[in-house]
This record gives sequence, structure tokens and C-alpha cells, in this order.
Amino acid sequence: MISDATESLPPVVLPSLERTPVLTGQKALVTGASSGIGRQVAIALGHAGADVVVNYVTDPDKADETVQEIERRCGVRAMAIQADVSNEGQVQAMFRAMMDAFGTIDILVNNAGLQKDAPFDELTLDQWNKVIDVNLTGQFLCAREAVREFKRKGVVADVSCAAGKIICMSSVHDIIPWAGHVNYAASKGGVMLMMKSVAQEVAKWRIRVNAISPGAIRTPINMDAWSTPEAYAELMKLVPYKRIGEPDDIGRAAVWLASDYSDYINGICLYVDGGMTLYPGFETGG
Ligand code: NAD
Repeated sequence: MISDATESLPPVVLPSLERTPVLTGQKALVTGASSGIGRQVAIALGHAGADVVVNYVTDPDKADETVQEIERRCGVRAMAIQADVSNEGQVQAMFRAMMDAFGTIDILVNNAGLQKDAPFDELTLDQWNKVIDVNLTGQFLCAREAVREFKRKGVVADVSCAAGKIICMSSVHDIIPWAGHVNYAASKGGVMLMMKSVAQEVAKWRIRVNAISPGAIRTPINMDAWSTPEAYAELMKLVPYKRIGEPDDIGRAAVWLASDYSDYINGICLYVDGGMTLYPGFETGG
């Protein structure tokens, strides 16, 4: 159940994802899956029948918890693999470990990401590089390994219409400028055009590449924006739908984008944002 800023409306109860086995037999890798959106996406893919690799970088206990929850609740296989997505050698070793354990990959969710915020004239080169390295280069490295395997494997008709699916976790800040977060917005703008260019290039092998661009989702990355009533009220000025997004909202979108229900969707950014990209400043007519 989800809390709601508009008191006259009933609380939002999202339908259960259990019993939606649209990904049965598929093998998925979710990066940065020990917390927040990645964790919930990994669980949602598990509910949909996929075996899941939970990538993590620093928190093995939380990754193990996610693995156990997927195996217990979803009845599929799950395993945790440590890798820094911005490190080429570690990414390649992660894919080799996944191939050894699961045989192949059908779905990559490029989710790992971080922020290093500063006013522009105080932004250090280290802060700039770290965010670009993880948020953009990390997505490139993982997508490249996935495409190599998708091309090798080709379409396996009783698994999926497509040889493989990549979902890049972008942000509404691939289109909305963000003062004080220039490195982050630049990384997500880069993700959007990388995603579209790769989608264009690899479509002929029946590989689909799309992005999810979340708005404000209740996770550790943006706790300042929702953890006090004052901050939440301020945030709602930016959200026409008047509730914060939950990681589960993104999990549902990811299941759909990974499934054959979206087979003709290629190269899109799916904004899952409660209308944040609708110029909320004009809500009352401007
Ligand atoms: P989060 O901090 O809970 O998750 C980010 C995950 O990425 C963490 O598990 C972290 O350990 C992992 N990570 C960081 N660096 C890594 C590295 N080098 N290698 C591997 N993993 C690494 O925050 P979240 O909100 O769940 O963020 C997930 C994704 O969603 C990010 O790409 C973020 O930019 C994007 N996003 C979040 C929101 C939001 O409102 N929460 C909005 C738009 C986009």
C-alpha cells in the first residue's frame, strides 16, 4: 500500500505481480540490485519467472538478502555477483560467472548509479568522472557484453521473440536540466542517446534496447527529498499525480519492457514519473 498526498483519494494498492510468468526460463542480470530500484526490479523479474543475477559492489549482505528473497518468494534461481560496473575487467568477469552459472543472458537491466552533487563552480573533476564512469561508462560496458552474448545466442523462439533485451535506468533528468547536479544530468542525457544509438544499431539482430526514466522514487539515493513532511510537500509540487513513486512502480515497467508484450518497442525512454515531465509549473494554467 502506498501513502498518498491527496487525502480525499483512497490509498493506492498496486495489483500483485505474483502469477505473471511472462519471463519464464529467461536469465536476467540487474546491476546495483542490492538496494532501491534495482532490488525491486530484480524481485519483479523473479516473480515474472526469470532467473536473476543480483549485481552489487559494496554490500554483500544486502545482495544476499535480495537473492534469498527472490528464491523464497519467486521459486526461481538467483545469485549475487560482485562487480564495479565502471571496471571493464570486473564487468567481463561478472558476465563469465553468469554464463557459467546460467548459460546465457536474455535480459540486462543497467540500473547501477550514483550522485555526487555540488554547485557547478565547486564540482571537482573526481566528482564529475565518478558519476560519468558509473552511470554512463558502466552502462556501456555491461550493454556491450550483453550484446556480444545476444548476437552469439540469437533468437531462441520458445524463450522470447527477441535475442535479448536491455533496459537502461535513466532519469527524468535525461530531459529535465538539474542545477547542482550537472554531472548526474549529463550522465543520464548520455544514457538516453547511448541507448537510442545502440537500439538503432542492434535492432537487426532482434535485440531491443530501451530506457526507463524514473521521476522521484522512494529510495536511499534521494532520501532528503521525501523523508520529512516538509520535504515531501515540496516534492509534490513537482508531481502532478501527487504521490511519490515506489521501487515497485519501476519493477512493473521493467517486467513489461523485458517481456514479449512490448516486442515492438525499441529505443524509447519510458517516463515513469507521475507526470513530472509535464511541466508541473503550468498545472494551474501558468
Ligand atoms: P540506490 O542508491 O538505492 O541504488 C543504486 C545502486 O547502484 C546501489 O545498490 C549501489 O550500490 C549501486 N552502485 C553504485 N555504484 C556502483 C558500481 N560502481 N557498480 C555497481 N553498482 C553500483 O538508488 P536508486 O534510486 O535505487 O537508483 C537506481 C537507479 O535509478 C540509478 O541509476 C539512479 O540514477 C536511477 N534513478 C533513481 C531515481 C530515484 O528517484 N530514486 C530517479 C531517477 C533515476
